[in-house]
Amino acid sequence: MHYLLLRKLNPMETIIPGNKEKGVVLSFDVESWSNLCGGKYDLSANPEDEYGHFLPRLLDVLDSYNVKAQFFICGKVVELYPFLFRSLVQKGHGLGGHGYEHEVMPNLRISEQMTVVNRVKKTMKQVLGISPISWRCPGLAANLGTYVALRNHGFRISSNAIRIDKPFSVKGIADIPLAEKMDGDFLGFYLPITSSGIQIWADYMKKEFDRISKGILVLGMHTWVQRKYDPRLEAIRSFLTYVEPFMGEVWMGRLDDLQWKV
Ligand SMILES: [Zn+2]
Repeated sequence: MHYLLLRKLNPMETIIPGNKEKGVVLSFDVESWSNLCGGKYDLSANPEDEYGHFLPRLLDVLDSYNVKAQFFICGKVVELYPFLFRSLVQKGHGLGGHGYEHEVMPNLRISEQMTVVNRVKKTMKQVLGISPISWRCPGLAANLGTYVALRNHGFRISSNAIRIDKPFSVKGIADIPLAEKMDGDFLGFYLPITSSGIQIWADYMKKEFDRISKGILVLGMHTWVQRKYDPRLEAIRSFLTYVEPFMGEVWMGRLDDLQWKV
C-alpha cells in the first residue's frame, strides 16, 4: 500500500474528544494462542504468562491512571480467553480485530478477506457482545480489498500505516497511523530486559509525546513479548506518570472514540 500517496490524496482531520488538540492512544496487539503462534519469535513464550499475569497487571496499571487503551485481538484468542476479554470490555477499553488467526490479508483474495473479517466480527459479538468498529492488520499488511472488506462489515477505523504524519481515508475507512511498533522492528523483539532497556522504551514514548504538539499519537506494542513479571510494564507506568500532569489539555483514550472530518 502506498500510504504516503493515499495520505496526500485523502487527508483527514481527526476530531479529538473533548475539543482537545492533542491525543494519545496506547494500543496493544494480542495474538498468541500457543507457544508457536503468537510467541513465534521466542519458543519459551508461555501464553499463560501473557494472559494470566501480564495482561491483568497491565489492566491494573491503566486503571490506576484511569486510562482507557485500545486492544487489537485475534478472534481465536477471544474464543480461548473469553473472561479476560469480557473484563476488558467492562473496564471500557477499546477492542478491535487483528485477524482470526493473524492472517496476512494481502495474501488472501477479497472474498477470503471478507470471510476473515466477518468471522472476527461474529466471534466478538457472540463471545463479548460487542460489534467491533476498528481493526489493525497483522503485520500492518493491507491492500485496497482489506479496506473494502472492513467497510462492508461495518468497521470504520484502522491503524495500519506507520510513520505517516497524518490520518487519511481509504475506501471509507479512517486510518490513524502508528508512530512506531515499539517492540517490533524499531526497538527489536529482544530489547534487553534491563533498566537501560526499559529506559529506552520509556524515553521513546516521552520523546514522541513531547514532539507532537497537535493531532494523535498512536503508540503500538504487543502483549506477547511480555513475561510474567516483565519490567517493561514499568516503562508504561513511567510514561503514564510523565503525561499525567498534562491530562487536562491532552486526551488519552480508545482509538474507537475518534471522529474525523475530510
Ligand atoms: Zn500481530
